[in-house]
Amino acid sequence: MNFKSILKDQDLVAESGKKSTGYINVPGTPVKMPATYIEGAKPGKQILITGGIHGGEYPCIETAIQLAKRIDPQDVKGTIVVIHPVNVPAFLAKLQYYGPYDGKNLNRVFPGKATGTVSERIAYTVHQLQQAADFYIDLHGGDIHEALVPFVIYSNLGGDQVVEQSRKASAALGFPYVVGSVSNNGSMGAAANAGTPGFLAELGQCGRWSDEEVEQYITATNNVLRSLEVLEGKVNSTEVTYLKKMAVMNAMHDGCWYAFRKLEDRVKKGEVLGEIRDFFGNVLGEYKAEEDGVLLYVVTSLAITTGDPLTAIGVV
Ligand SMILES: [Zn+2]
Repeated sequence: MNFKSILKDQDLVAESGKKSTGYINVPGTPVKMPATYIEGAKPGKQILITGGIHGGEYPCIETAIQLAKRIDPQDVKGTIVVIHPVNVPAFLAKLQYYGPYDGKNLNRVFPGKATGTVSERIAYTVHQLQQAADFYIDLHGGDIHEALVPFVIYSNLGGDQVVEQSRKASAALGFPYVVGSVSNNGSMGAAANAGTPGFLAELGQCGRWSDEEVEQYITATNNVLRSLEVLEGKVNSTEVTYLKKMAVMNAMHDGCWYAFRKLEDRVKKGEVLGEIRDFFGNVLGEYKAEEDGVLLYVVTSLAITTGDPLTAIGVV
């Protein structure tokens, strides 16, 4: 399958050297994903770019919108499909993590189900394109209640060749930290399992966005597209830190979250990174670092529920 045959029914294809815009309907749901199909003047790879799998991550959503608008098909070798954003219902509801129809985290239900809930069906629809893609770029950022330093996650699934391509392209993004993941139910894990290399990028935070962040994100993504030879031009190389893995610390209590450390702090195993207290100020639990490393994100909201991520250590 290629992009063209998948998107023909959605009336979203273009001739060589042209671009078309429209919506990808998610069958059996009211969801329509705004998308741009860019057919390059020359043949080449098929690249899928998604922004806004999480509706509250604004810099990546504006980046996807601007990339779709700015990329000139005459400059492209291959085909690029940009979805901007994927999770329109979550975006309009200003929700963090979850979708309004089923309360599910879209990035935990990949590869989705054709006959599932709304989030599962969105994932399934995106996964059809992931399977056809030669490379998958998934743009994220800190959610409405998350502070983070720019980093990029690639999947360690899908075999050595897929992993190597993903890792190389991740570095071309030029974000300071690059980390591998073995998550199965996220977007790029599902893509990697289907044999498609890719990465999940993180930039921006806390329900805000700025032109500067968007321009940084666009510049970084264009560098990746050059490294994949879909756009022409010199590939800039930046020194990045490869991390061994990401250790996410999750809440074991409902209550109020107090983080003791900041982004990019170096932490030692056993060190207390924060605590959750009840509404009377009593400590319900202390949260200690399980590894040595650097803090990649820290949840900024006072409110916390059991199972929520609190912080993530990039293990050096
Ligand atoms: Zn996200």
